[in-house]
Amino acid sequence: MYDPLVDSSAPSTFSSPESHWAKGYAPPNYPENNRRIEVDVAVVGGGYTGLSTAYHIEQSSELSCCVLEANQPGWGCSGRNGGFVLPGTGRLSTAQMAKNWGKPVSQAVYAEYLASIETVSDFIDSGIECDKIEGGYLKLAHKPELTATLHQQATMLSQDYGDSIVPLTQQQVQQDYLAGVKHHGGIYYPQAFAINPWLFARGLAEKTAQAGVTIFGNSPVRESHFDGSFHHLHTEKGFVKAKHLVIATNAYTPKTLFTVLQDRTFPVISSILVTEPLDAAQLSALGIKPGLMVMDTRSLKYYYRLLPDNRLLFGGRGAIYGKDADTGESRKALMKGLFRTFPTLKDVDITQFWSGWVAVSLDDYPRLYHDTSTHTLYSAGYCGAGLAFSVHAGKRLSQLLLEPNMLPQLPYWQSPLKKFPMASLRRPALKAFYAMEAFKQIWER
Ligand SMILES: Cc1cc2nc3c(=O)[nH]c(=O)nc-3n(C[C@H](O)[C@H](O)[C@H](O)COP(=O)(O)OP(=O)(O)OC[C@H]3O[C@@H](n4cnc5c(N)ncnc54)[C@H](O)[C@@H]3O)c2cc1C
Repeated sequence: MYDPLVDSSAPSTFSSPESHWAKGYAPPNYPENNRRIEVDVAVVGGGYTGLSTAYHIEQSSELSCCVLEANQPGWGCSGRNGGFVLPGTGRLSTAQMAKNWGKPVSQAVYAEYLASIETVSDFIDSGIECDKIEGGYLKLAHKPELTATLHQQATMLSQDYGDSIVPLTQQQVQQDYLAGVKHHGGIYYPQAFAINPWLFARGLAEKTAQAGVTIFGNSPVRESHFDGSFHHLHTEKGFVKAKHLVIATNAYTPKTLFTVLQDRTFPVISSILVTEPLDAAQLSALGIKPGLMVMDTRSLKYYYRLLPDNRLLFGGRGAIYGKDADTGESRKALMKGLFRTFPTLKDVDITQFWSGWVAVSLDDYPRLYHDTSTHTLYSAGYCGAGLAFSVHAGKRLSQLLLEPNMLPQLPYWQSPLKKFPMASLRRPALKAFYAMEAFKQIWER
């Protein structure tokens, strides 16, 4: 698999992501850029961030805008994620945010999380077909002492943060949500929903193109420089000159292409497997509420949901290097996690396995940044929780360019992403972290 910390350029030959979601659908076919063009805004990256930014710029201004995507829209994370539309991004808890920034700011950040779900819903209501399922999200305590912490969190978010979250005892989870898994109770987010993420990306691309944005597929930017007034972007057969540059390549950003982002994210692999359709006995042993999405409180957590055709989607951490992502070893490691979580599925067939890169930021929250001296904007660092947030980030990024005074005062757009110190040690550090967590999990079993 392409590795953004090893390869100097993104691949450019793919139409659809290697995922369950795109199977059976005709791949999109946006033309390659083979001309010299000039636009006001060039967006690099055709995932949710890039498409939503371009859509909102086109809708709210007279600026001309194009999207340059290395493969076809949705090829990156946006077409291969788990499809969990949840409130939140990054890895900071509400309590940590309140400690860092004060309670009013943490409340405003949470309001942004809720707004991001509305932004996705608005797009769906406007006609994007993406198999939306309103099943809610269950977060399980993996240790007895965490049940009370989760329940306090649910009360706080419901009373002070405008959400409505239900605390559940072990027995309630067992009875109404999920029977076949070890846990100690949890909390339930009824407003969370699931989608087919690739269909959503495809629909978002169509909406963006209909709004007037030119989308180029199979057009990776190989070289980019700023001459003091304009950006010059070179693709294989074409060239784009632009007043403003939006970098929306997130975890897929080639390592040295954009100096403004260099060493400011840490691309980490998340992998997913999908089982064959479960039979009646397997389903009854699982006892899972249709459409429910589940994670637990572990720092290296698994996430899962039952798909409409009764296949189980199961995801978790992947390999460390891109070259190891698609190997039998990586697949086996995730299967081990599946069988440990659901011992009754030990004989089930796995029909698909794939991986993708998520972008971790040094201080666990993303940034939407405008470097006004070089007319460059970016949004990145969602730490693996970016479906809803990246769609909303596109709206905010367009405001950051067009009407920054309209934005609420949030830490997201007040500073650039922090540089990783000793960036070359990111992977050895991850290896050590995974080893430590594996040991902790054996201890906790
Ligand atoms: C396995 C997995 C499961 C996940 N599950 C969930 C989930 O259930 N819920 C959730 O909230 N989040 C989830 N995420 C995270 C979520 O998918 C991402 O945060 C989100 O899709 C990010 O969108 P994006 O547009 O910023 O980036 P991407 O969708 O990754 O788009 C970046 C694009 O940039 C392109 N690109 C790169 N370099 C160049 C170049 N030089 N020129 C042109 N184009 C270039 C790439 O081809 C790519 O299409 C998951 C991620 C993974 C990998």
